[in-house]
Amino acid sequence: MTRLIFMGPPGAGKGTQAKMLSEDMGVPHISTGDILRAAVAEGTSLGQKAEVYMNAGELVPDELMLGLIRERLDQPDAQQGWILDGFPRTVPQAEFLNQLLDDIKQPFDFAVNLDVTDEVIIARLLKRGRQDDDESVIRHRLDVYRQQTEPLIDFYRSRQRLVSINGNQTMESVQANLKQVVVD
Ligand code: ADP
Repeated sequence: MTRLIFMGPPGAGKGTQAKMLSEDMGVPHISTGDILRAAVAEGTSLGQKAEVYMNAGELVPDELMLGLIRERLDQPDAQQGWILDGFPRTVPQAEFLNQLLDDIKQPFDFAVNLDVTDEVIIARLLKRGRQDDDESVIRHRLDVYRQQTEPLIDFYRSRQRLVSINGNQTMESVQANLKQVVVD
Protein backbone atom coordinates (compact mmCIF):
# COMPACT_ATOMS: atom_id res chain seq x y z
CA MET A 1 0.00 0.00 0.00
CA THR A 2 1.30 3.40 -0.94
CA ARG A 3 1.02 6.30 1.47
CA LEU A 4 3.30 9.19 0.68
CA ILE A 5 3.57 12.80 1.70
CA PHE A 6 4.96 15.09 -1.01
CA MET A 7 6.82 18.20 0.01
CA GLY A 8 8.75 20.88 -1.77
CA PRO A 9 8.68 24.60 -2.47
CA PRO A 10 5.99 26.04 -4.72
CA GLY A 11 6.96 25.23 -8.29
CA ALA A 12 8.97 22.16 -7.31
CA GLY A 13 6.78 20.09 -9.59
CA LYS A 14 5.28 18.12 -6.75
CA GLY A 15 1.74 18.38 -8.14
CA THR A 16 2.79 16.95 -11.50
CA GLN A 17 4.87 14.19 -9.93
CA ALA A 18 2.28 13.33 -7.30
CA LYS A 19 -0.40 13.01 -9.96
CA MET A 20 1.69 10.77 -12.22
CA LEU A 21 2.76 8.54 -9.37
CA SER A 22 -0.76 8.27 -7.97
CA GLU A 23 -2.01 7.06 -11.36
CA ASP A 24 0.81 4.51 -11.51
CA MET A 25 0.14 3.25 -8.01
CA GLY A 26 -3.65 3.35 -8.29
CA VAL A 27 -4.16 5.56 -5.24
CA PRO A 28 -5.84 8.96 -5.02
CA HIS A 29 -3.80 12.12 -5.41
CA ILE A 30 -4.94 14.37 -2.58
CA SER A 31 -3.90 17.94 -3.29
CA THR A 32 -5.04 20.48 -0.73
CA GLY A 33 -4.35 23.24 -3.29
CA ASP A 34 -6.74 21.55 -5.77
CA ILE A 35 -9.37 21.03 -3.05
CA LEU A 36 -9.14 24.69 -2.05
CA ARG A 37 -9.27 25.92 -5.64
CA ALA A 38 -12.39 23.81 -6.24
CA ALA A 39 -13.96 25.30 -3.10
CA VAL A 40 -13.13 28.80 -4.34
CA ALA A 41 -14.64 28.02 -7.77
CA GLU A 42 -17.81 26.70 -6.13
CA GLY A 43 -18.00 29.67 -3.80
CA THR A 44 -18.45 27.51 -0.69
CA SER A 45 -17.93 29.08 2.71
CA LEU A 46 -14.49 27.42 2.96
CA GLY A 47 -13.68 28.74 -0.52
CA GLN A 48 -14.67 32.27 0.35
CA LYS A 49 -12.48 32.23 3.43
CA ALA A 50 -9.52 30.54 1.73
CA GLU A 51 -9.47 32.74 -1.38
CA VAL A 52 -8.20 35.82 0.41
CA TYR A 53 -5.18 33.98 1.80
CA MET A 54 -4.40 32.14 -1.42
CA ASN A 55 -4.42 35.26 -3.57
CA ALA A 56 -2.08 36.96 -1.11
CA GLY A 57 0.35 34.02 -1.10
CA GLU A 58 -0.43 33.28 2.55
CA LEU A 59 -1.21 29.90 4.05
CA VAL A 60 -4.84 29.16 4.76
CA PRO A 61 -5.15 28.99 8.58
CA ASP A 62 -4.62 25.60 10.21
CA GLU A 63 -8.09 25.69 11.77
CA LEU A 64 -9.58 25.41 8.27
CA MET A 65 -7.01 22.91 6.98
CA LEU A 66 -7.16 20.31 9.77
CA GLY A 67 -10.85 19.54 9.35
CA LEU A 68 -10.45 19.50 5.60
CA ILE A 69 -7.74 16.85 5.63
CA ARG A 70 -9.49 14.74 8.26
CA GLU A 71 -12.65 14.62 6.13
CA ARG A 72 -10.73 13.86 2.97
CA LEU A 73 -8.81 10.95 4.53
CA ASP A 74 -12.10 9.60 5.84
CA GLN A 75 -13.49 9.11 2.30
CA PRO A 76 -13.82 5.52 1.01
CA ASP A 77 -11.30 6.00 -1.82
CA ALA A 78 -8.59 6.97 0.67
CA GLN A 79 -8.69 3.72 2.63
CA GLN A 80 -6.31 1.85 0.31
CA GLY A 81 -3.53 4.43 0.14
CA TRP A 82 -2.94 7.98 -1.07
CA ILE A 83 -0.41 10.57 -2.07
CA LEU A 84 -0.73 13.78 -0.10
CA ASP A 85 0.36 16.89 -1.99
CA GLY A 86 0.46 20.20 -0.15
CA PHE A 87 -0.34 18.90 3.32
CA PRO A 88 1.21 19.28 5.83
CA ARG A 89 2.63 22.75 5.30
CA THR A 90 3.25 23.76 8.92
CA VAL A 91 4.64 21.94 11.97
CA PRO A 92 1.21 21.95 13.72
CA GLN A 93 -0.30 20.39 10.57
CA ALA A 94 2.42 17.70 10.60
CA GLU A 95 1.80 16.97 14.28
CA PHE A 96 -1.94 16.79 13.66
CA LEU A 97 -1.39 14.44 10.72
CA ASN A 98 0.86 12.12 12.75
CA GLN A 99 -1.81 11.86 15.42
CA LEU A 100 -4.60 11.38 12.90
CA LEU A 101 -2.75 8.64 11.00
CA ASP A 102 -2.02 6.95 14.29
CA ASP A 103 -5.70 7.09 15.27
CA ILE A 104 -6.92 5.69 11.96
CA LYS A 105 -4.04 3.17 11.83
CA GLN A 106 -2.71 4.35 8.50
CA PRO A 107 1.06 4.72 8.82
CA PHE A 108 2.68 6.60 5.93
CA ASP A 109 5.74 5.31 4.07
CA PHE A 110 7.82 8.50 3.71
CA ALA A 111 7.78 12.21 3.23
CA VAL A 112 9.31 12.86 -0.18
CA ASN A 113 11.02 16.21 -0.48
CA LEU A 114 11.60 17.63 -3.96
CA ASP A 115 14.67 19.78 -3.69
CA VAL A 116 14.73 22.70 -6.16
CA THR A 117 16.82 25.88 -6.40
CA ASP A 118 15.19 29.33 -6.19
CA GLU A 119 16.02 30.22 -9.81
CA VAL A 120 14.28 27.13 -11.12
CA ILE A 121 11.27 27.78 -8.87
CA ILE A 122 10.73 31.36 -10.02
CA ALA A 123 11.20 30.52 -13.69
CA ARG A 124 8.71 27.66 -13.50
CA LEU A 125 6.08 29.61 -11.59
CA LEU A 126 6.23 32.60 -13.90
CA LYS A 127 5.68 30.26 -16.83
CA ARG A 128 2.70 28.60 -15.18
CA GLY A 129 0.66 31.81 -14.87
CA ARG A 130 -1.94 30.73 -12.28
CA GLN A 131 -3.98 33.45 -10.57
CA ASP A 132 -1.64 33.46 -7.56
CA ASP A 133 1.51 33.33 -9.71
CA ASP A 134 2.45 37.00 -10.14
CA GLU A 135 6.02 37.76 -9.22
CA SER A 136 5.51 39.54 -5.88
CA VAL A 137 3.04 36.88 -4.73
CA ILE A 138 5.49 34.16 -5.79
CA ARG A 139 8.27 35.77 -3.76
CA HIS A 140 5.98 35.98 -0.77
CA ARG A 141 4.95 32.31 -1.16
CA LEU A 142 8.63 31.40 -1.18
CA ASP A 143 9.23 33.35 2.06
CA VAL A 144 6.22 31.68 3.66
CA TYR A 145 7.56 28.33 2.47
CA ARG A 146 10.98 28.97 4.02
CA GLN A 147 9.51 30.10 7.33
CA GLN A 148 6.63 27.71 7.82
CA THR A 149 7.08 24.67 5.59
CA GLU A 150 10.83 24.10 5.30
CA PRO A 151 11.08 23.16 9.02
CA LEU A 152 9.12 20.03 8.08
CA ILE A 153 12.23 18.69 6.34
CA ASP A 154 13.91 18.38 9.75
CA PHE A 155 10.66 17.21 11.32
CA TYR A 156 10.57 14.16 9.04
CA ARG A 157 14.34 13.72 8.83
CA SER A 158 14.63 13.46 12.61
CA ARG A 159 11.94 10.78 12.55
CA GLN A 160 13.83 8.85 9.83
CA ARG A 161 10.97 9.41 7.43
CA LEU A 162 12.51 11.75 4.86
CA VAL A 163 13.53 10.96 1.30
CA SER A 164 15.02 13.80 -0.75
CA ILE A 165 14.91 13.90 -4.53
CA ASN A 166 16.67 16.35 -6.82
CA GLY A 167 13.82 18.29 -8.43
CA ASN A 168 16.04 20.38 -10.73
CA GLN A 169 16.11 17.59 -13.30
CA THR A 170 13.72 16.91 -16.17
CA MET A 171 10.24 15.69 -15.29
CA GLU A 172 11.16 12.22 -16.59
CA SER A 173 14.31 11.93 -14.45
CA VAL A 174 12.48 13.06 -11.33
CA GLN A 175 9.78 10.52 -12.07
CA ALA A 176 12.36 7.75 -12.51
CA ASN A 177 14.04 8.64 -9.20
CA LEU A 178 10.71 8.64 -7.45
CA LYS A 179 9.78 5.23 -8.74
CA GLN A 180 13.03 3.79 -7.45
CA VAL A 181 12.24 5.12 -4.02
CA VAL A 182 8.69 3.81 -4.01
CA VAL A 183 9.54 0.38 -5.31
CA ASP A 184 12.48 -0.18 -2.90
P1 ADP B 1 1.97 25.09 -5.03
O1 ADP B 1 1.84 23.93 -5.95
O2 ADP B 1 2.38 26.35 -5.71
O3 ADP B 1 2.78 24.79 -3.82
P2 ADP B 1 -0.71 24.53 -3.99
O4 ADP B 1 -1.61 24.27 -5.13
O5 ADP B 1 -0.21 23.36 -3.22
O6 ADP B 1 0.52 25.44 -4.50
O7 ADP B 1 -1.40 25.55 -2.95
C1 ADP B 1 -1.89 26.80 -3.36
C2 ADP B 1 -2.28 27.64 -2.15
O8 ADP B 1 -3.29 26.94 -1.38
C3 ADP B 1 -1.17 27.92 -1.15
O9 ADP B 1 -0.38 29.03 -1.52
C4 ADP B 1 -1.97 28.15 0.15
O10 ADP B 1 -2.53 29.44 0.18
C5 ADP B 1 -3.12 27.17 0.02
N1 ADP B 1 -2.81 25.86 0.69
C6 ADP B 1 -2.67 24.65 0.08
N2 ADP B 1 -2.40 23.70 0.98
C7 ADP B 1 -2.34 24.31 2.19
C8 ADP B 1 -2.06 23.87 3.52
N3 ADP B 1 -1.79 22.59 3.80
N4 ADP B 1 -2.10 24.80 4.52
C9 ADP B 1 -2.36 26.07 4.27
N5 ADP B 1 -2.62 26.56 3.04
C10 ADP B 1 -2.61 25.69 2.01
